[in-house]
Amino acid sequence: MNFSNAVFLKSAAEPGQFIRDGRPQVVFAGRSNVGKSSVINALTGRRNLARVGNTPGKTTHVNYFSIDESFMLVDLPGYGYSKKSDAEKRRWAELMETYFKQYDAITLGVLVVDARHEPTELDRQMASYFQQTCVPWAVIANKTDKLKPREIEHSLETIKKTLVLDASVALIPFSAEKRAGRSELQAEILNRIK
Ligand code: GDP
Repeated sequence: MNFSNAVFLKSAAEPGQFIRDGRPQVVFAGRSNVGKSSVINALTGRRNLARVGNTPGKTTHVNYFSIDESFMLVDLPGYGYSKKSDAEKRRWAELMETYFKQYDAITLGVLVVDARHEPTELDRQMASYFQQTCVPWAVIANKTDKLKPREIEHSLETIKKTLVLDASVALIPFSAEKRAGRSELQAEILNRIK
């Protein structure tokens, strides 16, 4: 699999534009500024695939990329940006509700959280979307480069407890900046899409 063979397909602003074509979908979720774009860029080895450092939370779109013509990478809109208007927050919630109603299209969910902090209420809500729909999912603990090894261990325990992760959910320490955890994430994806 050539992860860097990545092509932008489409930006869906409303459910009618969601793609359902039978190809496996690997779906990325995370709060604004957690580094979701950076994780996607590190995964694909592409610097600008998902736009990094956008005004956080500005775009409430579901973005689709085709990876090596084998599977779709789906970038869900970031959440938890406090300056978003109420209308925009409602739009996010509605878009997610509808997206998760077609959960049989989801091959693997990937929730990106910040290794430095306890997962937020919205992280827990997103985790429960994955849990309730019973799709396979994994958690990326990003920004581990900001922590010492012992702190990383502690952080992983906290994430496991807060998100109530069972053994079926891979929890991968990651640093988009150092590209650490990249091969583990790639292996998890390859394992699920085959
Ligand atoms: P998004 O809003 O979740 O897509 O987040 P971005 O990918 O735009 O990243 C938000 C900020 O976090 C940027 O300033 C990134 O440089 C920084 N960032 C992302 N990943 C890492 C990481 O692994 N380590 C560190 N130290 N910073 C990171």
